[in-house]
Amino acid sequence: MSDYNIDRTSHIDIVQNPDVKTILDNCDYMREPTGNEINDIISHFVSVPDREFSLPQKVISIDGSNYEASIRKELPFTRIGFVKIGNLLIKRNDFKKISDGNFVNPFEVSKISKNNSSLSFALPSTNMCYKGENNVRDSFRRTMDEALYNCRFSESDASTSLRTTLFRMAELRLEGSNNNGSILLFKCPSCGTENLELWDIPETQHCPHCGNVIYPSDCLRIWEDISDSGSNQSALTRFTNALMHLLVVHYIRLLKEKNPDSYLNSLSDLCFIINGPLAVFGNPAWLHSSILKYLYDINKELTDSGRPPIIVMGVLKTGAICDYYKMIGSFVAKNSIFSVSDGFRNKYINFDRRPSATTFGAETYYGQDFLLKTETGKLFVFNALLPFRDKHNKTCFKDEKANLLNYSNIGTYAKLIEEFECDLDSASLVPIALAKKYTTITLEPGGKVLDLLAKNALN
Ligand SMILES: [Zn+2]
Repeated sequence: MSDYNIDRTSHIDIVQNPDVKTILDNCDYMREPTGNEINDIISHFVSVPDREFSLPQKVISIDGSNYEASIRKELPFTRIGFVKIGNLLIKRNDFKKISDGNFVNPFEVSKISKNNSSLSFALPSTNMCYKGENNVRDSFRRTMDEALYNCRFSESDASTSLRTTLFRMAELRLEGSNNNGSILLFKCPSCGTENLELWDIPETQHCPHCGNVIYPSDCLRIWEDISDSGSNQSALTRFTNALMHLLVVHYIRLLKEKNPDSYLNSLSDLCFIINGPLAVFGNPAWLHSSILKYLYDINKELTDSGRPPIIVMGVLKTGAICDYYKMIGSFVAKNSIFSVSDGFRNKYINFDRRPSATTFGAETYYGQDFLLKTETGKLFVFNALLPFRDKHNKTCFKDEKANLLNYSNIGTYAKLIEEFECDLDSASLVPIALAKKYTTITLEPGGKVLDLLAKNALN
């Protein structure tokens, strides 16, 4: 897109262009609210409810990034893809120790981010074939499946792989249809034969019709976006997005399956903070509904046993809703919150106004958008886990998802945000800033965020 980069001056030139002006004059788009609108907008906000539960001690933050690079400067059309998912464990007490006092030891700051790991995946992209495959698409499929299969908590135990977590999600997808643990592949990537069964086994599996290899991870349908000659950036982005959210379930699944006697205790002291909305986009979007079911069931187990539900939070920093909130934020009272309804969104934020029967995020989101203004006046757009197992009843879902009363731990979410407010990046949280540090794909030595964090805490 670099050819279309427009600096500020030329941006003004374009807006002043008579043809552009004519179009603009005839368009509806986001703008500053006026008198009555301001009253309407602030009337939606209510005081943040008191924290319902004690805050979990352990925070896992997840961020992902990806990059497509040519392997040599002289070969711009021979590219490799790189995906990095940072997942960081922060203990709240450790963080408080360094942020409450007057003196901050920078070594302490780096210590709290020591429990980090990042997953890296290199994937063949434009004009590159892997292990003798015939084309980029098949190379990408094979590498991706190998990566998910080999990404294990315990190296010798294949059932601790991300691929097995994907099988669990596929099982939930086919719930109630006599599923026996297999993945039902929509179609064979080679011949198009529909509804192929795949098993969680180490052996290579083949399409019964054409005999070509089929992979369990083909069910994410990311391969459909792969082309031999163009950029595969969007496929990399889809993969990154799907992985970040799969990872939440993966952690919980491993805790549960490996510690059947104690996992509820572990989970009640754990939460997840993810960079971006709680949503899976594009072809792998089906994952979101399985994740929702899985997390709902876990929360039911937790609450049935008298424990608080788990916090799974998405923090949004970009997008139309963030742009809009920045514009109206100064009118909103401190310590107030709003669960964004479709009505509000359609009136002020989104300019896709098809009167469709569906509701915002119906096919992608497992979280709900909230606008929060903290006690210190900072503005946050975040997602809380939806309090439903599925969205089958669309009309009911549309109304109930925006009802604050359905969120039994929303005050706890808000409290957690307040605790982790980040001074260096006003709309971000410390765990996200730290996770970002481990996913930023850069050749320069890192450490800047930590330095800044340390400095800021000193001031
Ligand atoms: Zn086939």
